[in-house]
Amino acid sequence: MENAEKLRVRFAPSPTGFIHVGNARTALFNWLLARQKGGIFVLRVEDTDLERSSQEYERNLIKDLHWLGLDWDEGPNTGGKFGPYRQSERLELYHQYAKQLLEADQAYYCFCPQEELERERAWALAEGRSPVYSGRCRHITLKEAQERIKAGEKAAIRLKVPEEGLVRFTDLVRGEVEFDLKLIGDPIIVRSNGMPAYNFSVVIDDALMDITHVIRGEDHISNTPRQILLYQAFGWPLPVFAHLSMVMGKDNTRLSKRHGATSVDQFRREGVLPQALCNYLSFLGWSPPEGKEVLTLEELVKLFDLSRVNRSAAIFDYEKLYWLNRQHIKLLPAEKKLTLSLPYLQEAGLAGEDITPAQSQWLSEAIELFLEGSNKFSDLPEKFLLIFDFQPESLDEESRQIISSDSARKVLKAFINKTAGVTEFNYEFFAHITGEIKKETGVKGKELYHPLRVMLTARASGLELDKFIPLLEQGAKLNFPRPIKNSLERIREFSTFLKLQEKQEA
Ligand code: GLU
Repeated sequence: MENAEKLRVRFAPSPTGFIHVGNARTALFNWLLARQKGGIFVLRVEDTDLERSSQEYERNLIKDLHWLGLDWDEGPNTGGKFGPYRQSERLELYHQYAKQLLEADQAYYCFCPQEELERERAWALAEGRSPVYSGRCRHITLKEAQERIKAGEKAAIRLKVPEEGLVRFTDLVRGEVEFDLKLIGDPIIVRSNGMPAYNFSVVIDDALMDITHVIRGEDHISNTPRQILLYQAFGWPLPVFAHLSMVMGKDNTRLSKRHGATSVDQFRREGVLPQALCNYLSFLGWSPPEGKEVLTLEELVKLFDLSRVNRSAAIFDYEKLYWLNRQHIKLLPAEKKLTLSLPYLQEAGLAGEDITPAQSQWLSEAIELFLEGSNKFSDLPEKFLLIFDFQPESLDEESRQIISSDSARKVLKAFINKTAGVTEFNYEFFAHITGEIKKETGVKGKELYHPLRVMLTARASGLELDKFIPLLEQGAKLNFPRPIKNSLERIREFSTFLKLQEKQEA
């Protein structure tokens, strides 16, 4: 093994599903540290669980990490001098090292049938004891074991660990940690099907890949003593360990579907920006020293400090993530906002595949307005309905209330009268006749504008009318796949709706 001088960290996901934000945070912290210290970031795919791993998940994983803006210096498709970087391609190595332990009498073959181990386990749990392997096969000599295997018996391989004592280590996040060997027993390092156990392959790989810092989720902390025993058995130096607290929902249970989106893939689909997601993930257990919160990856690389990562559970706050997303969206140039918004508008049938320059200009302006107050790009189609959808017959309760008073009816009728026979409409004209109505009826403020808003938008709230009317008038001329009704069309339709209402009320 080479002498590791440079910091070398790794992210070692199992490709068994979409990457969870907790894991993405682990990847990010490793990456930030590597980039900050001029170290090496390794991607290692831990795909020894053949039933649950798939190449498709591996592809998604790589896509998601790239999307987040993370890159690696060594990895499955990148290569590197410690490859291969996919565990399924390293099986020979694991067998070689297991053989070494067997021959040094530091490991032994275990022939205990699965059912028996499970029975013992259940028994121990029922008695309130920790389920620790009895050590029944410890005395079987290597020679005897090899003969039984030759004769067709199946066996796992276990590491021989001392029956008593403590395993201690200093965790960069959690401080001094110790585990009692009595609670550990002889861990399996190779299963009876020949596949290495996680604790074994991870140690072989971390050691052979010269990993200096193992930064991972706290769910692995109880594996660490077993891994340390393996380092000791091989006489290898220990890496530094740092276990990051779990990512929880507001109710203090592990972040899961019940809380909302949990995978990087879901957040990407929602239209959360990768820079916002990284920014937010960095706050799960860490906070920047100066209190500046909206940070780019480059800024995070400068500011990140592993020694400031704290050990309390990291609560995932969706509101905070969306707030950061809004801040990062504001920083984007207009063309980027348009490109990122289009797929959502196209998917909703509001924009076509081919966009004319005039449409693109209009969309850009509309996007600028509607992104104000949007948490994510996927919120846009709903906001755009203010323009694309006008159905007075399905007014909500609030809008119905607004137009039900006498003063509202007076205002609406006056407005309808003043626009009868009119063929051109714009905001100046709107402001002009609204001024007249104010004088004639004495109605002003909310009482005046609210009913007019409901008439023009069939909604109780939305953009300011001085923004809405020009946008609507322009959009209506642009031949979108879903036609936009202009103000005059809306006023006529609303007038018919009102007459019908009044008939029903009479
Ligand atoms: N494959 C393990 C996981 O995804 C890696 C844990 C580790 O970093 O050691 O949880």
